[in-house]
Amino acid sequence: MRILIVEDEYKIANSIRRGLEQETFAVDVAFDGESGYDLASTENYDVIILDLMLPKIDGLTICKNLRAENIHTPILILTARDSVNEKVEGLNSGADDYLPKPFSFTELLARVRALSRRPKQTLDSVLQTKDLTLNTKNLEVKRGKILIELSKTELSLLEYLLRNKGKVVTKDQIIEHVWDYDSDVLPNTVEVYIGYLRGKLEKPFKGKSKIIETVRGFGYKVSE
Ligand code: CA
Repeated sequence: MRILIVEDEYKIANSIRRGLEQETFAVDVAFDGESGYDLASTENYDVIILDLMLPKIDGLTICKNLRAENIHTPILILTARDSVNEKVEGLNSGADDYLPKPFSFTELLARVRALSRRPKQTLDSVLQTKDLTLNTKNLEVKRGKILIELSKTELSLLEYLLRNKGKVVTKDQIIEHVWDYDSDVLPNTVEVYIGYLRGKLEKPFKGKSKIIETVRGFGYKVSE
């Protein structure tokens, strides 16, 4: 899952970024409204965290403009404490949720996770295919009862594949949702990570079914 943070306070922006990266999200940060709007309208994000008071373009205008351009990425607005007007205005401008400042990281994470869920997965914190499960709350991956250790990127890749269960995802889509803007990722990198995942999820489980299918010329798929 890839997140955009638009927040001009460096300390807040960077602490949210660090926290989300530890939870295996890919994170981009914009420190003013203009660059935030540019990224939000050209890149593919799963959730946008948007401050309201921003230099150059304010948060509400960004929100309205994105919706007017038919970009429906879920938006979580950060508001000043107890400002009912800001909340109402934010929701009217097309935001999906709001969080008053100051907030705890746990609270922010819960909102981001709720917004990043695909409609089909509502309430599901455990993603599953065959005998493989990924618990998105504690990040535990298991095949049957056996716990499997994955790196952050492997976890993020597996989560993306499981959230798109039954669909073929291309290498470009994987790159857009699993890695952030600053990463140098080549299509070959995706193959390498798919290889790592197979090495951990399939190889040690001889005789059990495969988890990741390669769809030649298109990409990868995890079956329903
Ligand atoms: Ca601000």
